[in-house]
Amino acid sequence: MMAQLYAVYCFQAKGTVQWIAGMSRNTKGTSRRSRGLRSGSTGRAGSAIPIDARLKRQFQRRLLNWYREYGRDLPWRRTTDPYKILVSEVMLQQTQVDRVIPKYHEFLSRYPTVRDLAAADPEEVRQTWYPLGYNIRPYRLHSIACETVARYGGEIPREPEQLQSLKGIGRYTAGAVRSFAFNEDAPILDTNVMRVLHRVFIGHGDPRAFKGRLWQMSEALIPKGKGYDFNQAIMDFGAMVCTARNPYCLLCPMREFCRAYPVSSSPVRRRDHE
Ligand code: SF4
Repeated sequence: MMAQLYAVYCFQAKGTVQWIAGMSRNTKGTSRRSRGLRSGSTGRAGSAIPIDARLKRQFQRRLLNWYREYGRDLPWRRTTDPYKILVSEVMLQQTQVDRVIPKYHEFLSRYPTVRDLAAADPEEVRQTWYPLGYNIRPYRLHSIACETVARYGGEIPREPEQLQSLKGIGRYTAGAVRSFAFNEDAPILDTNVMRVLHRVFIGHGDPRAFKGRLWQMSEALIPKGKGYDFNQAIMDFGAMVCTARNPYCLLCPMREFCRAYPVSSSPVRRRDHE
């Protein structure tokens, strides 16, 4: 326990420190035997991965309880404007939250609406984007804004087919806009979400081999009418608890039934939203 707490203070952001402090007060020992739900599913890459109804409810409840207490307060969670949410999602691709926050504010003060962005010079947009990197993103965002004005009168569409028809918006970004802006029960699957679902419900092999099944799982697990909270919660959980390296398994609310428990370390992969 002391080693984990030390690691937290060395490497984690303030929100995670708060989470650890809270969870460490509530932690009880977890034996392998207590994970009786391990026998629930098949887990082969090409086969169905049914989720036991009780396990599904436990996962949903524990995740949402954890999020209510420890979820991060992020600026794009204070808006339902689909344009602002789209900007945040594009910025978050391959980039850490703490680097995105100041640029998110600066970008939106310069281009407060889709129309403002569409009317801007693409080169100026790229300069405003600096130093976030991956410079294809400001051009893509500008092109999405132009297409949105031309085809949808400046309103970001909410239908998945329309969203994904905009060049630069893939399945993940469409799901994020639908759930965070339009409060729909739309699934998302980025690297964080994939890692959490793969560890909890599969526990072996390469998560990428299960991608199609994990998309199905991401959709099936959303409690009806709670797509917004559930998706925000699982992203925070992947960023703060079930991290790529050194996840906090001993303090984790899923440890009783997690198929990967305990994980000591795993390689970090690039964030891949689509
Ligand atoms: S027990 Fe560990 S691997 Fe499983 S969900 Fe929790 S942090 Fe992730």
